[in-house]
Amino acid sequence: MIAMRAVGKSFGAHQVLRGVDLDVAPSEVVCLIGPSGSGKSTLLRCVNFLEPYDEGEVRIAGELIGYDLDSEGERRPMAPSRLRAMRREIGMVFQHFNLWPHMTALENVSEPLRRVRGLPKGEATDRAAAMLRRVGLADKAGAHPLRLSGGQQQRVAIARALAMQPRLMLFDEPTSALDPELVGEVLEVMRALAAEGMTMLIVTHEMGFAAHVASRIAFIDGGRILESGPPRRVFHESAEPRVRQFLQTYH
Ligand code: ATP
Ligand code: MG
Repeated sequence: MIAMRAVGKSFGAHQVLRGVDLDVAPSEVVCLIGPSGSGKSTLLRCVNFLEPYDEGEVRIAGELIGYDLDSEGERRPMAPSRLRAMRREIGMVFQHFNLWPHMTALENVSEPLRRVRGLPKGEATDRAAAMLRRVGLADKAGAHPLRLSGGQQQRVAIARALAMQPRLMLFDEPTSALDPELVGEVLEVMRALAAEGMTMLIVTHEMGFAAHVASRIAFIDGGRILESGPPRRVFHESAEPRVRQFLQTYH
């Protein structure tokens, strides 16, 4: 579903991604781990082209995102309408949930369905209500974000992304802004989503979750994927000193 090949990205003289190869197959859950500043968020943002990559290729279901290739193989920016269409297939959830404070939970989920998908109000409301049920928030439909806990707000953000019926979901540290006692309810929603077969690429520091839910762990450091493999191998059998050193800080 996601295929990254030799992806490079620089901010000025600072090369943040170097020769990144990463695949996420349909229904696979890949957890991306690594130290602060290693390029995790940048990598994730290259997948939906929120951040334009400079080198290599990112393909979503086989289609190059962000660029068209002309007859000589030169890259040209993709037509904005086409990029928007590709992005609509990719759900993204951030550390900070970015809900609209003046709208209810239900409206936060239904409004994009009306604006982006053009659904009539009744249909958008029905689908939004179903999504809130799915994340366990049926009883909070009428509440405004400020009346919700951080965990509940993040579950609304997940419902909002799922309502668009994405083919894959990107998560960038979805629980790291939450109080510890609220982390579990969000991880539980993500675990259920994985069990339903959603394709997911997740940046996380929740190693227990990653060990149980991920099909694969990718470790990134200095903009390079240093290791990628099943959780057991990366967590317990890695021969890579940087991986072992990083994991030690979690014991
Ligand atoms: P963290 O765990 O702290 O979230 P990260 O692994 O997500 O870190 P990135 O946010 O991808 O790291 O940043 C990687 C590097 O790129 C950092 O050195 C950062 O300062 C730099 N960087 C990220 N975004 C920009 C930007 N818009 N302009 C300039 N430099 C940037
Ligand atoms: Mg980050």
